[in-house]
Amino acid sequence: MDKMKQLANGIEMPRLGLGVWRVEENDATASVKWAIKEGYQLIDTAAIYKNEKGVGEGIRQSGVKREDLFITTKLWNADQGYESAHEAFNDSLNRLGLDYVDLYLIHWPVAGKFNDSWRAMEEIYESGRAKAIGVSNFHQHHIEELMTTAKIKPMLNQIELHPTLTQVELREYLAKENIAVEAWSPLGQGKILQHPTLIEIGKKHNKSAAQVIIRWHLQNDIIVIPKSVHEERIKENVDVFDFELTDEELKQIDGLNINERLGADPDHFDF
Ligand code: NAD
Repeated sequence: MDKMKQLANGIEMPRLGLGVWRVEENDATASVKWAIKEGYQLIDTAAIYKNEKGVGEGIRQSGVKREDLFITTKLWNADQGYESAHEAFNDSLNRLGLDYVDLYLIHWPVAGKFNDSWRAMEEIYESGRAKAIGVSNFHQHHIEELMTTAKIKPMLNQIELHPTLTQVELREYLAKENIAVEAWSPLGQGKILQHPTLIEIGKKHNKSAAQVIIRWHLQNDIIVIPKSVHEERIKENVDVFDFELTDEELKQIDGLNINERLGADPDHFDF
């Protein structure tokens, strides 16, 4: 499997990365450094995670060249709007200590504001300070609303997606629109790792349930950003390129779907 996926604008994005939600600044530095040492190139942070400084520090300490890494951050809800989005982006760059990010996302579809935010993001993209731009937590109707004023189509949508919330319809729509799909909480926040089906499939391949789930995402053309602050798990989660799930196994995992969200529904969030 190709470890990179080409986005609609031609940019190559790693298919597997490290998520750092609920990771303190110091732990973020260590985790990012370990991850990069293990070959991760994609790091997913956000202004609201309050660890962009720590992430930037980890990047610098890794000694890996900037152009060999792919850094994502996100525009927080309180900062949505045209001017505030520009300001928030500059603040994120300063905290990261970078002069560009690879991907900048609107974190949630704040009603009445995301079209204006997107106008700022298009300008940021055109300035070269974000190599790609996209959205997160957008349903199909949010993307359709965005496209009534957008000049540039989002290149990616980062959504809650794991074996118990497989988002089949939204994924079909995104594929049709050539918008890449990235899964957040791809391991169901660790809550589904004891599922016997996943453990059983893992045994057949000498892999853990976490590795089976990550592989399921990859074989479904989903970009995946599992989070861990433990060196061993960070290593384990990227050791997924030497086995392949069968069609039968992929179907078994699809069958775990119960449409259950761990986070908010993008139509009903109050933050
Ligand atoms: P996740 O599904 O990646 O699960 C992480 C948890 O799984 C860990 O805390 C740990 O308990 C467990 N785990 C990880 N690897 C393991 C292993 N090998 N063995 C056993 N247990 C293991 O959860 P997440 O952090 O919610 O999601 C991943 C990333 O997605 C976040 O860090 C963040 O970057 C992103 N995210 C984005 C949004 C959004 O609104 N865009 C929302 C939530 C998360």
